Amino acid sequence: MSIKENYDYVKNKVKEAAIKSGRKLEDITILGVTKTIDTDRINELIALGIKDIGENKVQELLEKYPEIDQNINWHIIGHLQTNKIKYIIEKSYLIHSVDSIKLAKEIDRLANQNGVIVDVLIQINIGNEDSKFGIKSEDAYDFVKSLLDFKNIRIRGLMTIAPFVEEAENNREHFRNMRKLFIDINNNFNDNICMDILSMGMSIDYQVAIEEGSTLVRIGQGLFGRRTYN
Ligand SMILES: *Cc1c(COP(=O)(O)O)cnc(C)c1O
Repeated sequence: MSIKENYDYVKNKVKEAAIKSGRKLEDITILGVTKTIDTDRINELIALGIKDIGENKVQELLEKYPEIDQNINWHIIGHLQTNKIKYIIEKSYLIHSVDSIKLAKEIDRLANQNGVIVDVLIQINIGNEDSKFGIKSEDAYDFVKSLLDFKNIRIRGLMTIAPFVEEAENNREHFRNMRKLFIDINNNFNDNICMDILSMGMSIDYQVAIEEGSTLVRIGQGLFGRRTYN
C-alpha cells in the first residue's frame, strides 16, 4: 500500500468514528508519527495534506527538521529529558509528554527566557503500567494544580499511551476514563485552564479512541506501514 492509499484509508476510518461520536473528520487531528521514517517519505505524507507530525526523540527531530517542509506543526510525543528542552522549545507546536513537575518547571523557565508560551499536554498513565511514563489518573488533579503557577506553559489537554492490545475494544474503557478525567479537570480548574485537546489512539485503536472522545490520534504504522528499527 502506498502512503496515499494508507492516508485515504485512515481518513475514512477517522471520519466514520467521528460521525459515530457526533463530530466531523475536520474535528479530529491526524498526527503522523514519523519515528524511523526517512524525510522523503515524511514529505510525501505532508504533500498529501497532513499538517501535524510527531517525533519521540529530540535528536531525531533535530536531524530531520531542516529537510522537512516547514509549514507543519511539530509535536513532541515521547518522554522528554529536561536537558533536551532547549533544543525544541521554539520548534515544538505541542509537547504531549509532560509527566513531572521538574520537567514542567524547566519548560516554563526556558519558555520565559525565550519570551514564548509553550502549549503542553499532561501524559496520563491510564493503564497504570509500570512500563509507561505518565501521571496516574488519581494524581492528575494535584499535578495540574501544581502546574498552575507556571505562567509560560499553557495546559491544552491530556495525552495517553494506552496499553498494547490485540483488540482495540480492550482499550475502550481506558479511553472512556481518559475523557472523564479530561472533563472533570476542565470543570474543576475552569478559571485557570481551558483544555481542548485529548490525544489518544494509535494505529491499532484510533477508531475506538475517537468514538470515546479523542480529538487527536497519533498514527505511525497505519500511514507508513510496519516500522523497522535499525
Ligand atoms: C510510536 C508512537 C505512536 C504511533 O504508533 P503506531 O502503532 O505506529 O501508530 C503513537 N504515540 C506514541 C507516543 C508513539 O511513540
